[in-house]
Amino acid sequence: MAYKISDECICCGACEAECPVSAISAGDGKYVIDAGTCIECGACAGVCPVGAPSAE
Ligand code: SF4
Ligand code: SF4
Repeated sequence: MAYKISDECICCGACEAECPVSAISAGDGKYVIDAGTCIECGACAGVCPVGAPSAE
């Protein structure tokens, strides 16, 4: 199951730089994770200041 970014995202961009497979990109009002690319490493959740990314 890929990670997902909640509406808590403040668009800081930190997670995009940390993702080892470049699955994260800026979306409409929040960053988004490409489910087919995410390898569930958890790096995005580790750097997010507001805890927006989570495994569902
Ligand atoms: Fe990228 Fe890992 Fe976050 Fe998936 S869990 S979006 S692979 S940083
Ligand atoms: Fe949004 Fe968190 Fe990623 Fe920053 S690190 S862009 S707040 S999901």
